[in-house]
Amino acid sequence: MKIAIFGGTGFIGSAWIEQWVQNGGKVVLFTRQPAKVDFQELSESVAVQAWPLQEELKVDGVINLAGETINQRWTAKAKASILESRVNTTRQIVQQILNGQLQTPTLINGSAIGFYGHSLEKTFTERDPSVMKHNDFLGNVTAAWEAEAEKVLAAGTTRLVKTRFGVVLGRDGGALSRMALPYRLFAGGPIGNGEQWVSWIHLQDAIDLLNFCLREEQLSGPVNFTSPTSCTMNELGSAIAAVTRRPHWLPLPSFACKGLLGEMSDLILKGQKVTPQKALEHGFSFQYKTVEQALRDLL
Ligand code: NDP
Repeated sequence: MKIAIFGGTGFIGSAWIEQWVQNGGKVVLFTRQPAKVDFQELSESVAVQAWPLQEELKVDGVINLAGETINQRWTAKAKASILESRVNTTRQIVQQILNGQLQTPTLINGSAIGFYGHSLEKTFTERDPSVMKHNDFLGNVTAAWEAEAEKVLAAGTTRLVKTRFGVVLGRDGGALSRMALPYRLFAGGPIGNGEQWVSWIHLQDAIDLLNFCLREEQLSGPVNFTSPTSCTMNELGSAIAAVTRRPHWLPLPSFACKGLLGEMSDLILKGQKVTPQKALEHGFSFQYKTVEQALRDLL
């Protein structure tokens, strides 16, 4: 199968490409900076292209993970870029699908569980609306991002899957390296009150679920990319401490976290418990079901 991918130079996309190619797949990688891409070992199977398309391209699927990182201080400029990079890239992709330049039966478009808003009590499935009516920054971004992708349905020829990612835990990059660092320095501990939910997924399960979404033609709409068991921030911290054999002791109170990170502290001080109902209903099998299992593999 030949898949076009946007955001394929990032944390999730680059790991996906590596495995897709190792398993005999072909990739067309769209990037803003083709000259900087180094997929040399994979060069026969990865065609690197600049966007927008100059000639027609027919593929078996499109994956769009492109977007400005949210892992930065949320200044007004950064917030605009986080939103616009996602909405504009998705708009261009959808336009090129609708005008026939990019031909694909499936669009797998990025999103995030921030879509649901924050709650300590509720468990969210794909059928739930936002409890905050998207009146928060990430809820607003994901709602706009998903709405842009939904325009692809106008043609009636492309299946759309919206990947609502939880925190993706991987070895190199992503949130885990940042979270594990204080523990490695013997300075890890409770963040905020520690009760906030963390819905996470092991990078390998995220890659396998992307492939499942590509192949499972009956699957469409939002799909939660989270493991079957969420944990609280305190449980995650304790598990990192146990696996790295370090103490879980030095608290980072909410006010200090807000002072350090500004509004972006929402990412770690607030959370949501999200369950991957659709993946399970369609028969997807998670390799890493508990956070201890995932961390033992990754740390
Ligand atoms: P990365 O930040 O690692 O990669 C995103 C890619 O998007 C980059 O490689 C880059 O590709 C492209 N990009 C960066 N900035 C811009 C911009 N301003 N305009 C257009 N394209 C840009 O993301 P991840 O792999 O971690 O995540 C993929 C998607 O999933 C992201 O949209 C992210 O928000 C979402 N997500 C990820 C989670 C996680 O835990 N990792 C959790 C929830 C959601 P290039 O330079 O080649 O163009």
